[in-house]
Amino acid sequence: MDLNSPRGTADIYGKDLKYRNFIEDTAKKLFKNFNYAEIKTPTFEHTEVFNRGIGESTDIVQKEMYTFKDKKGRSLTLRPEGTASVVRAIIEHKLYSKRLPLKVFYNGNMFRYERPQKGRMREFHQLGAEAVGIDNPVIDAEIIWLTNRLFEELGFKNLELLINSIGCVECRPNFLKEFKSYLEPRLDKLCSDCKIRYYKNPLRIFDCKKTKCKEVVKNGPKIFNYLCDNCRKHIDSVIDYLKKLNIKYEINYNLVRGFDYYTKTIFEVISKQIKSAQNALGGGGRYDNLISQFGGPDMPAIGFAIGVDRTAILMEQLKIKPKCFNGFKKVYLIAMEEKSYPFILEISKVLRKDFICEINFKPKNLGSELKWAEKNDFGFAVIIGEEEASEKKITIKDIEEYKQYEFDWLTQKDKLIDLLKGK
Ligand code: AMP
Repeated sequence: MDLNSPRGTADIYGKDLKYRNFIEDTAKKLFKNFNYAEIKTPTFEHTEVFNRGIGESTDIVQKEMYTFKDKKGRSLTLRPEGTASVVRAIIEHKLYSKRLPLKVFYNGNMFRYERPQKGRMREFHQLGAEAVGIDNPVIDAEIIWLTNRLFEELGFKNLELLINSIGCVECRPNFLKEFKSYLEPRLDKLCSDCKIRYYKNPLRIFDCKKTKCKEVVKNGPKIFNYLCDNCRKHIDSVIDYLKKLNIKYEINYNLVRGFDYYTKTIFEVISKQIKSAQNALGGGGRYDNLISQFGGPDMPAIGFAIGVDRTAILMEQLKIKPKCFNGFKKVYLIAMEEKSYPFILEISKVLRKDFICEINFKPKNLGSELKWAEKNDFGFAVIIGEEEASEKKITIKDIEEYKQYEFDWLTQKDKLIDLLKGK
């Protein structure tokens, strides 16, 4: 039996899990703050949901879906993203029939058959939100603001927000005509996939990661310059609202994002500190035609998703400590010998009401215990030797600040607790 988890999947535990839980908890709090309600959809759907939703000629549908037949021969697919499933559920349960916008969020594992590398997995996790039923640019600004706030709450400082508009059914055909006539004499410079995209779905050429295709696209016409009045007014208002909210952005005329359902506003959050192609942490956009394409009412919508795994990796790389690691300091109670344990238990009974405490259950060398505490994000170490135990004295080390304090347990308990609380 092969005991390795399948390629592109991971067992998540220990510190990695803490980062992810922190990201999920922070997002859930923020979603509630912006009045988004949770929705959970199945891990797999009828294949058609993604074929029609994401688009037949996208990389995801062409190459990356985990599609299988069930015992009755039905074609099912593990979800590669969240929006198509949420839209399917909204239509099935007519969730749009109440006050609009309908605002929902989700959090779950997604599956794409990609070539695994750091930050790119075959099973990964996304959390995202959708706002359905309103085409007012204020809601575009709200969704972008929410994405931005999420990364701020997580402790990121130097991320970049890219935005663009890819127009609507009115204006996109004009652009595509120009784009195709620009590409025609340059077809031999494109990769074989992009040559096919030229005929089937030229906008997808913007997704290509190959340098030669990027070079061709770079000097070509930009969809932003072909927007109809309505789309232009829309993106101008979104930008005005972002300015009002003091959100820094950059218009990136080559941004299209890899799904066919997007219209008008699209955006992506990237980190220039990641030098690989895996530098996008999340993104989203408007999808004004998807609900009607699925057979629902003609209803605009906008949403976004962030990659939890990639965000966690970047937090670790940038040494961003989850606020809970700092704000809620953990205490390591170190018994220097067997005789220390009764006093250690007495202390932990009090401290565990407010703090995460761990005890060393086997006295060992102090240096190695302190190293372990530092590596495992303990803010403080309480050291109890024979003298401390008999005199009920506490020696406590602030591990991050390299400071040491002494307290008399019976008379200075409150002072000790204030120190742990950072007062
Ligand atoms: P997308 O659904 O492609 O717009 O992706 C949204 C976010 O999900 C990306 O910015 C990544 O952070 C994350 N993501 C997408 N695909 C993967 C993957 N294969 N592995 C890990 N994270 C991913």
